[in-house]
Amino acid sequence: MMALPFDNSYTRLPERFYARRPATPVEAPRLIHLNRALAGELGLDADWLAGPDGVAALAGNTVPEGADPIAAAYAGHQFGQFVPQLGDGRAVLLGEVIDRTGIRRDIQLKGSGPTPFSRRGDGRAALGPVLREYLVSEAMAALGIPTTRALAAVATGEPVVRETLLPGAVLTRVAASHIRVGTFQFFAVRGDVEALRALADHVVARHYPEAAEAENRYRALLDAVIAAQAGLVARWLLVGFVHGVMNTDNMAVAGETIDYGPCAFLDAYDPGTVFSSIDQNGRYAYGQQPRIALWNLTRFAETLLPLLADDEEQAVREAEAALSGNAPAFEDAYHGGLNRKLGLGAVRDGDPALAGDLLTRMGENQADFTLTFRTLCGAVEGDGSVRDLFVDPTAYDGWAVRWRARLAEETRAPAEIAAAMRTANPAFIPRNHQVEAMIAAAVERNDFAPFETLLAVLARPYADQPEHARYAQAPEGGGVGYRTFCGT
Ligand code: AMP
Ligand code: MG
Repeated sequence: MMALPFDNSYTRLPERFYARRPATPVEAPRLIHLNRALAGELGLDADWLAGPDGVAALAGNTVPEGADPIAAAYAGHQFGQFVPQLGDGRAVLLGEVIDRTGIRRDIQLKGSGPTPFSRRGDGRAALGPVLREYLVSEAMAALGIPTTRALAAVATGEPVVRETLLPGAVLTRVAASHIRVGTFQFFAVRGDVEALRALADHVVARHYPEAAEAENRYRALLDAVIAAQAGLVARWLLVGFVHGVMNTDNMAVAGETIDYGPCAFLDAYDPGTVFSSIDQNGRYAYGQQPRIALWNLTRFAETLLPLLADDEEQAVREAEAALSGNAPAFEDAYHGGLNRKLGLGAVRDGDPALAGDLLTRMGENQADFTLTFRTLCGAVEGDGSVRDLFVDPTAYDGWAVRWRARLAEETRAPAEIAAAMRTANPAFIPRNHQVEAMIAAAVERNDFAPFETLLAVLARPYADQPEHARYAQAPEGGGVGYRTFCGT
């Protein structure tokens, strides 16, 4: 029996979709962490994966039976500039498996060596960014946000050359698929309508089967991708997540969060927050994310024009109609989510303004995003400490009067409201200062205990975990000036 029960559909697509290419072996593979729960979900043998044969496969040193490793072709707009060819430059798709719920999932090695798409890159990943992606993607999953997952991290025993020499690692990433807006752009820019149709049909069958029943399946596909992204970005905002590099090659059409390079979470609330050192104009700032998602979706719609209708003007009308659905879908998801965070039921007139007023006051008073909402859960039952999170506590008091008046219209008991709020307002997010400390311990001292601890705490973000209270704390000074770097 195959240790990994692969069933590969992407390699059944035309050969111009990818380059066949195994990973490049590494010196001394050592398993850092295996996600046993995820292995179970995928129907994989976790004991085999953790053993020498499994680790060799996860490092890319052997090709497991049934795998058909490829580097996928894609293009993309990077910070608004179109690049007609990007592709998997440091990753290979080992293959796909059908998980326990019948969903097809990609298993990809990231940091697995050069491919025909590597351009000037070395195809490798440093340990720090691998641990960051592992931790943050798993934290997102535990928060209930659609995301790629981390199955394993393996140290390579080889250095990678960056500004300094750094230890190398390989991440095994699991995704509904790795098909991006940029994958569509790759074929659109080449005028390859046949490939576009094959790709769109593949995505419909795989991710949006209900679209196949629609009168115009490509319009239905576009609607579905727009709805998925609107919901996704709303969920990011609701937990203070800044993706950091929302290039079109980093937007997965399945609607999962993908590519955890320079991402980070807000500490003090400020919609202008930018963490990435290369995002100098704030293109991907926290509060810009809904706008940028629409920009990317517009690029996606453009790739589908030849499929949407035979008549060009009709195709444009279809695309415009679909794109006009983005804002309402986002608003619904975002305001519904804010109401849940505030302990309120269905959104009523005035609720968005009430939530907006709180956010404005938080921004003016450097209130910590996560702590404010988590502390608010207790305020329903009389905890008076939220106001201390505001530079001027009376700014909170002024808002709380309005909030309490609105809460009084709710029929649920306060304890029930508070309990529901605790499932919408996490106590634990991957705090930037703790992620950095975790990475420093691993990279500088070969100490993975902080990684293990943080991973366990973040697996239960909505539980109080008083023994881990320090992981819920905000950094000194609200985290102002924190910078992230692309994990290349
Ligand atoms: P990213 O910024 O991680 O989304 O990557 C953008 C593009 O650069 C993708 O085509 C990657 O495959 C490629 N890339 C990033 N880092 C490397 C690397 N170390 N070696 C080769 N290609 C890379
Ligand atoms: Mg990318």
